[in-house]
Order: sequence, then structure tokens, then C-alpha cells
Amino acid sequence: MRSEHNFWRVGDGLFSLGQKRGGRVHAFLVEHQGKLTLIDTLYDTDARYIVEVIQRIGREVRDLENIIITHAHRSHLGGLAALKMLSKATVWAHEWESDIIAGQRKAQAIPFFPRRPYRISLRVWFPLQFGLALGLGRHPACEVDRFLKDGASVGPLTICHTPGHSPGHLSMFWKERRTLFAGDSIATWPDLSLGWPAFNLNKRQHYDSLHKIREFDPEIIAVGHGEPATGEQVAQLHEKIQSARPD
Ligand SMILES: [Zn+2]
Ligand SMILES: [Zn+2]
Repeated sequence: MRSEHNFWRVGDGLFSLGQKRGGRVHAFLVEHQGKLTLIDTLYDTDARYIVEVIQRIGREVRDLENIIITHAHRSHLGGLAALKMLSKATVWAHEWESDIIAGQRKAQAIPFFPRRPYRISLRVWFPLQFGLALGLGRHPACEVDRFLKDGASVGPLTICHTPGHSPGHLSMFWKERRTLFAGDSIATWPDLSLGWPAFNLNKRQHYDSLHKIREFDPEIIAVGHGEPATGEQVAQLHEKIQSARPD
């Protein structure tokens, strides 16, 4: 296993795939009734690692039926075009993010001014933040096949529109597994946080979205940056959301 990447089985039919690049970015593979759904696509553009994981769990890349993109930031889009070509999976995203994913528009810029989390090393931080601020670091473009709205379903997942980090940001809830896929609205790296403040475009929307996803009462919170939160971490996140104030 290359140390740049890691994957583990979080629970029945749920796999976490991570890599160091892109700010410890994570993607998630859901296996339900024989069908595979991937949430986000890591940073690498060759998608080789995701294909390797699919094979390690005894499946083939052509078994991938759905790819859901939480939002159109570079770290989450790297492998999308390659995976679409290899799998012919249906690509799902919110309409607002879709033309960015398709390469027709740059991601909305964020401010230059560095904010929390300060503990991210400058080597990681500057490419991420300045890349977004400048619209650099384009991903291989890929058309979105289907638009997702709040309340829609893909496989066992219920879609929840959670704007704030970006206007078309989506979260998903897998009811049977009490698992919330929170995208970048929550982060566990470099520490447990309600997302990375510098990257949240609309703080009021982000605050409202956090309360919306808290109502699912998840046991596992799988996030875009860092390992999934479980147990005590989930309790801490519930408290953080309760005590958060819109500013
Ligand atoms: Zn993001
Ligand atoms: Zn991200």
C-alpha cells in the first residue's frame, strides 16, 4: 500500500479512502444490494487508487454505478473524469456545482487572508487556499449526468442540500448505517471542526446547514478532510453545532 493513500472498512458496506494530498482528502465507497456508489473522487487525476480499492473489496470498476460529488472543489474532483471513463457510472451533483465540474466555470474564489486552521502546514495550506482564491489547479473536466436536490435518493443515501461551504454543497445520510457524509461542512483534520472557516463562503447558510444535518442524529460522520468521526468525536461535534453562533 502506498503511504500517500489509505483505506479501511468503516462498517458493513462502507469504506473510507484517504490520501495526504488535497488536505487529507477522503472519498467513500458504499456497497448496498450489490451496487457501488462512490462519494467524491480524491485528488489524484488517474483514479488508480480508487480502482485498486474497488478490486481489493472483490469488485470491478465497471461495478461502480453512481458517483456523487459533494461540491466542486479541486481536492474532491481529481479522479472523476478517469472513473467516469472506466466505469460509465452516473455522475450526480447539485446543479450549482455542475458547470464547475464540467470545466465551464471556475470555483468561486475565497479570500486570500489566512484563517483557521493555522495548524495546517504552509506547504499544504497555500496550494489549497491560494489555489482556490486564484482559481488555479483545475481538475480534468467531466459532465454531470443528473442534478440532485434536497430530499432525493441515490441508492440507500438520502441527499441533503447543505449550502454554506459552497452554494451547491451536498451531504448524504445513510439511514440504516446512521452514517452522515458531511462533505466539507465538517472536518476532522487537522482537528475536529465545523469545516475550515476560510473555505466557507456563506457563514449563515453554513450554520443553518449544520443544524439541518444534526437532526439526522448520526453515529458516524464521514467528512471530506480527515478520518470519519465516531463515538466521542460525534458527541463533540453535536456540542459544537449546538454552541455555534452564526457570525
Ligand atoms: Zn471544499
Ligand atoms: Zn475539500
